[in-house]
Amino acid sequence: MFWRRAKADEPAETGDAGDAGDPLATDSAEAADSPESIDTGPNRETPDDAAADATDAGDATDAPEATDATLVVGLQASRGFVARLRSILGAGTDEAAWEEVEETLIAADLGARLAIDVVAAARRRPAATPVEAVRAELRDLLVSRPASPWTPPRPWPDQPAVILVVGVNGTGKTTTIAKLAARFKAQGQRILLAAADTFRAAAIEQIQAWAGRLDVPVVAHAAGADPSAVVFDALDAGMARRSDLVIVDTAGRLHTKHNLMDELAKIRRTIDKRLPGSTPAVLFVLDATTGQNGLAQAEAFNEASGLTGIVLSKLDSTSKGGIVFAIERALAVPVLYVGVGERLGDLVPFDPDAFIEALFA
Ligand code: GDP
Repeated sequence: MFWRRAKADEPAETGDAGDAGDPLATDSAEAADSPESIDTGPNRETPDDAAADATDAGDATDAPEATDATLVVGLQASRGFVARLRSILGAGTDEAAWEEVEETLIAADLGARLAIDVVAAARRRPAATPVEAVRAELRDLLVSRPASPWTPPRPWPDQPAVILVVGVNGTGKTTTIAKLAARFKAQGQRILLAAADTFRAAAIEQIQAWAGRLDVPVVAHAAGADPSAVVFDALDAGMARRSDLVIVDTAGRLHTKHNLMDELAKIRRTIDKRLPGSTPAVLFVLDATTGQNGLAQAEAFNEASGLTGIVLSKLDSTSKGGIVFAIERALAVPVLYVGVGERLGDLVPFDPDAFIEALFA
């Protein structure tokens, strides 16, 4: 195990003899490309790429304060589908118009089944205008959640809260971890990162680069190490350092879905063992641009690890904001944050009413 801290005056701590491998070593596990792998995103393999990601992604001193205004800007593209709904329904509400509404909702990634249901219910719904009826139906699809902003559950004050971040490579998992760390750090919390995606050397380096920029400690082992061992050490370190929050990166791809399930279950058991009675949050990062395909990934991860929340990344890069409704309806798991850009501050706590307001503004 090794530690990394950005401050030059802090000595690096070195760990157990068993972890003496070179953390920059090539990730041999990556070579096997099983047809059952669930990675659909791009892979970055080199340390240079990892460093570039960290450098490009904004200044760590950016104030991580996202507002409703950030949400409106981030939803600019998605508001197009609502404008289309307005224009269709403004011109009439005959059969053809409702069919067009259905098509518009499908094109916005709501999914065919859900679009049909929404239109049927909106047509029956007493409302001031047809647009209002659709808006109310969409609002009803969003699951209830504790008041925003969300904070990770922490049942015992002497133990850190834990967030496991899961998702497919390329979806924005690492950036989301950095955004979360920046947000909670800005609130005065002591953060520790765990580089438990040991499957890719580049993933370890990326997390380390972010930790450096954010000036938060990170626990990492060499590529190929047992992810649960990383988590165990990170929880130990979190206890020793009185961290408030440990954020764990996990593998976005394994050889088979079965491996992924096993690994996530093992990490869960490790957390239970080290922090009995803790209730780790399991956040799935869903790339909004992957549409219905992302839903299938979410279902696989939900099966593997029991998701407690969703972070919808890259909402700024799609005009298909309907995926929010589809994912909440499919999994009954709340979207807790949306990513609306590449900077640290571009993570907006998700509030259903503010979201609908911004979409229909
Ligand atoms: P990972 O492989 O899942 O860890 O993905 P990364 O965190 O490395 O992100 C992949 C790419 O998506 C990077 O170029 C990020 O800057 C970009 N990205 C992440 N989140 C967002 C977002 O909310 N909006 C936009 N536009 N880009 C994002």
